[in-house]
Amino acid sequence: MQKLLYLALACGLTTAPVLAQTTEKLDQAMLAKIKDEGLNRSKVMETAFYLTDVCGPRLAGSDGLARANEWTKKQLTGWGLVNAAIEPWGTFGRGWDIEKSYVAMTAPYYHTLIGAPKAWTPSTNGTLKKQVVVVRAATEADLEKYKGKLRDKIVLTDVASPPKPGFEPDARRYTDEELQKLAAAPAAPATPAAPDAERVAARRAQIALRTKMAELYMSEGAAAVLSARAGSNGTFFTSNGASYAADAKPVLPELEMASEDQLRLIRLADAGIPVEIELETRTRFQDKDLKGYNVVAEIPGTDRKLKSEVVMLGAHLDSWHAATGATDNAAGCAVMMEAVRILKATGAKPRRTIRIALWGEEEQGLHGSRNYVKNHFADPATMKLLPEHEKLAAYFNLDNGAGKIRGIYAQGNEAVVPVFSQWLQPFADMGATTVTPRNTGGTDHLAFDAVGLPGFQFIQDPLDYNTRTHHTNMDTYERLPADDLKQASVVVASFVYQAAMRDQKLPRKALPVAKPAEVR
Ligand SMILES: [Zn+2]
Repeated sequence: MQKLLYLALACGLTTAPVLAQTTEKLDQAMLAKIKDEGLNRSKVMETAFYLTDVCGPRLAGSDGLARANEWTKKQLTGWGLVNAAIEPWGTFGRGWDIEKSYVAMTAPYYHTLIGAPKAWTPSTNGTLKKQVVVVRAATEADLEKYKGKLRDKIVLTDVASPPKPGFEPDARRYTDEELQKLAAAPAAPATPAAPDAERVAARRAQIALRTKMAELYMSEGAAAVLSARAGSNGTFFTSNGASYAADAKPVLPELEMASEDQLRLIRLADAGIPVEIELETRTRFQDKDLKGYNVVAEIPGTDRKLKSEVVMLGAHLDSWHAATGATDNAAGCAVMMEAVRILKATGAKPRRTIRIALWGEEEQGLHGSRNYVKNHFADPATMKLLPEHEKLAAYFNLDNGAGKIRGIYAQGNEAVVPVFSQWLQPFADMGATTVTPRNTGGTDHLAFDAVGLPGFQFIQDPLDYNTRTHHTNMDTYERLPADDLKQASVVVASFVYQAAMRDQKLPRKALPVAKPAEVR
C-alpha cells in the first residue's frame, strides 16, 4: 500500500492529499499572488539581459564575473533584500580575460575562421602568419615523427567527432512517458556503480597523451595550436587550455575552433596544399586578487523561533567565455533572483530567513558552493558540523539550462517525495508534475548533499542545452525562452516560500561519513 501510494504520488498522478503522510499546508492566496507577480509583472528577462549582454562572459576570475558580482549585489539590494555581500570563499587562482582574438586562413585564399582562445592560454607574440602542420597521434610513439618539424608552425590537431547531418531537432521537451519513468525510478542505488575501469583507464591515457603532445609542441618551438573537439554548424565547446593556478606550467596560445573550419584546413593540408594561418590573440592574466567570491543576500525571517533557520536558493554566476553563458547559467541566476524579487514584491513574510547565493567558480569544480558549505556548515572531509548546519532547512538549485521546471530530483531522500508532490500540485497545469526519488549530479546542490544537508536540483526540459548551448559559443540570450523562465521563477518562489513557512525543516537523509578529499 505504502509503496503503491508512494508510486502514485511520485508519478504526480494523484492530487489527493497524502493520508499516511504529513499533509502540507499550501497557502493558496500567497501562491496566487506569486503566480500573478511572476507571470504578469516578470522581470526575469530583464535580469537575464543584464547578466548576459551587459555583464558579458563571466569566466571564473574574469572582469565579466566581477561586473556580474557587483550588479547582482546592487540589484538584490535594490529589490529590498538585506545583508547583500560579495563574500570571498577562499583562494581560487588567476583571473583571465580576452582583449583580442582574430584567426583567418590567408593561403591558399583568404577566409575568416570561427574560433576562440582556450581559457587561461597566453597571448600570441603579436600577429602570427604561419604555415600549419597536422598532428595525429594515438600513442606517444606516434609523436616521434613530428620532432624537428614543428618549429614556428601552427599545429592543427584532428577533430575527435566530425559533424554529421542533424536529422533530429536540437531542442526537445520531456515526454509524459519519460517523466513517468523518472518518477518510477528507484532512489539512488544503495552502492553507486563502480566507475568502468576500462573507461577510466582510457580517459587517463588520453589525458596523458594530450599532456605529452602539449610538451612536444612547446619543446619543438611551435607557434600556436588550433584544436576542435566536437560540435557542428559553427558551434564549438570551450574548455581550459591551461591551469588557473598561480604557478601553472606555461603553454602555447591555443584556440578552440569550429569543426567545419578545422576540417577544411586539415583536408587542404592533407592534400599537400600549403595552408597559412593569420592569428592574433591578446589575453590578460590577473593575479592581484586570487580569491573567489559568491554573492549572497537575504529576506529576513519573521518568526521569533524560526527566523534563525535558513532556506537557501542558488545558481552559479560564472560561465564559460566563448559566448555570454545564457543557459549556463544566467538562466538559473535570473530565475533565482526573480524568485526573491517576487517574494519581496508580494510582501511575503517568511517565517524562516531566505538566503539567495550566486556561486562563483562552479565550472572549475563547484568551488564557490563547496567552499561556502565548508565555511558555513561542515567540511565533508571531517564531517565536523558547524552551528549553522542544523539551521539550514533546505537548498534549491537551478543549473540544467533554460527549460521550464517539470519537477524535482529528491536526491535519494524518500521522505521529501510526498512533500514535494504536494508542493507541485498548484503547478501541474504549468507542466511541473514529477518528483523522482533519483539523484542528479554535476552542479552545486551536491555541495550541500555531501554534508547531509537537503540540497535539490529541479527537473528541467532539456531544450537545446546538450545539443547547442552547454559550454559553447552559441550560449546566448536568444536561447532563453521567456515563458520557461517565468514558469520556473514562480515554481521556485513557491517552493522557497513553502520551505520558509513549514512548521518543520525538510526531512534529511542520514549524515554521510567523513570522506577525505581524495576519496570523493
Ligand atoms: Zn552550469
